[in-house]
Amino acid sequence: MEQHDNADAARMAALRERYQAEKLKRVRTEGMAQWQELSEELDRDPYVEPGFSREPLEEETTVVIVGGGFAGMLTAINLAKAGITDFRIVEKAGDFGGTWYWNRYPGCMCDVESYVYLPLLEETGFMPTERYSSATEIFAYCQLLGKTFDLYSRALFQTDVTGAEWDADRERWMVTTSRGDRLSSRFFVLAGGILHKAKLPGIPGIETFGGKAFHTSRWDYDYTGGSPSEPMNHLSDKRVAVIGTGATAVQVVPQVARTARELFVFQRTPGAVGVRNQRPTDVAWFQSLPEGWQAERIVNFTEAVTGAQPPVDLVNDGWTAAMWVDTQKAPESEDEAEELERIDFEVMEGIRQRVSDVVRDPETAEKLKPYWSKHCKRICFHDEYLQSFNQENVHLVDTDGRGVDSVTERGLVVDGVEYPVDLIIYASGFEVTTDLHQRLGFDPVGRDGVALSERWAKGAHTLHGVMASQFPNLLLISLVQGGFGTNFAHLITESAQHVAFIVAACQEAGVTTLEPREEAEEEWLNELLRVGIGGARYFMSCTPSFYNSEQQAIDSRAARNLTYTGSLLKYAGHLAAWREAGNFPGVDLKPDPANN
Ligand code: NDP
Repeated sequence: MEQHDNADAARMAALRERYQAEKLKRVRTEGMAQWQELSEELDRDPYVEPGFSREPLEEETTVVIVGGGFAGMLTAINLAKAGITDFRIVEKAGDFGGTWYWNRYPGCMCDVESYVYLPLLEETGFMPTERYSSATEIFAYCQLLGKTFDLYSRALFQTDVTGAEWDADRERWMVTTSRGDRLSSRFFVLAGGILHKAKLPGIPGIETFGGKAFHTSRWDYDYTGGSPSEPMNHLSDKRVAVIGTGATAVQVVPQVARTARELFVFQRTPGAVGVRNQRPTDVAWFQSLPEGWQAERIVNFTEAVTGAQPPVDLVNDGWTAAMWVDTQKAPESEDEAEELERIDFEVMEGIRQRVSDVVRDPETAEKLKPYWSKHCKRICFHDEYLQSFNQENVHLVDTDGRGVDSVTERGLVVDGVEYPVDLIIYASGFEVTTDLHQRLGFDPVGRDGVALSERWAKGAHTLHGVMASQFPNLLLISLVQGGFGTNFAHLITESAQHVAFIVAACQEAGVTTLEPREEAEEEWLNELLRVGIGGARYFMSCTPSFYNSEQQAIDSRAARNLTYTGSLLKYAGHLAAWREAGNFPGVDLKPDPANN
């Protein structure tokens, strides 16, 4: 027995050491500065016809919403349900959909079960065709939401907001756009996306590449041939590189592997890839679901992936199995700390074992094994990704944590070896923790002419991540001091409901401006720090990623820009408690209904 305990302790110590060594290989002194923006050419929207133009619009409205993804659409739908129909949605893309408009890469699908991911299924009566919906289906669903709730007539597509300024005399936001519009609104909602600003790795020489290159969120089917559902036949004589092994690459690689002459997958950190088990929707089951089933299932899923361990696991998939125990929480004793670490190791050992079971070449299999803790990065689920590495035309180029050394006119260089390619596909992700104004592409100017970039220069100031002092009637849906969750659609549903409630409550009470008090914001910050302690310790030992701002040292500014790392249900509870209080706690109002 003692021998067994000793062997177990030694195994845990060895894993701990391995995780630490793998992390240290990846920490880069440049931190977030290792990324660069897409050039105008690479950022161009490939899904619209060039040459669109329209007359500029000058109008007064109650609400301007920036963003036509789920966050903007759900805000609008909730406003309409509350009887507020004079709103405008400004969206840079050519249609609704947000993430699901831009990401049309082959194999793109949602890794969260469609029955809990797609909002308002009971209201629209829509039945997803499969357990995990394809991006094509989700984009079409967004269009259906737009039609069902009459949002198209209120949307300005292919339009960027270029500026927004609070006019204190008129108590309105003045919003200008790239199409010359001048929109004056009582409320201004920033629902501009969480993962919408694509980024490229700042690899030396990246601009010198002479072949074709694009980011996964700007897929060029003219070049590759095919479509999200048809094979990319133009690749049959091409040597293709995929840079990245995150959630996007895991979905892209098997599709490119099908037709490319040769595919080189450049890996910096191995992804964790569990079993997917995709299947068609059981129509009889779906039709038998009782009223109220979706809200119940959504909450049940979030409970299951945040360690709340509901009595029944309704979704019961790879996510709920992997996340059933919240191993990032602050342990209450040394025994509990050891137990949590052991559970975390076991989940990841299962993932590593799967690599050995699937990938035939043992050397390749070893390189594909992730040595990081389960909350450090988003775990992926796929039944073809690892299998691709058994194909003769697919080559793993493992960079041992360093990344690609350089790009030349002909291809990519790692360890002094040049890999000539015709096409580079950057599956290199999106900006998540950079400054909000940078991601938005404009810098809102609030009370007394203060810009968001100035006010938040030393970190964010918000109440719940939704309202911000110095910015009257500005309402935010973002991760900055807001919630977080595996099921982003659940998070967005809660936030959009809250935002629409605030607008409707102000209208009802005759309030023309609202602005949170600084004391209330500091209280919220304290709550963020309080719930963040357990996670902060966990994330310090994580491999770098956007979850921990690439392991940059946490200064006071970064500490203010936290997301709420407690359960999404607890975050939603804070919002609900604020709404239920009924008297706008922590917020200054004009005119104040209490004085009437
Ligand atoms: P990620 O940021 O997760 O991945 C980027 C990849 O690029 C990483 O593997 C990264 O390596 C790699 N990389 C960066 N720089 C270099 C370099 N210099 N050399 C080699 N490799 C490099 O982006 P994704 O687009 O994959 O995913 C982003 C998010 O989008 C996910 O976390 C998820 O939230 C969402 N998503 C969701 C999906 C869903 O189904 N719901 C599907 C797809 C994406 P390293 O890991 O070392 O940084």
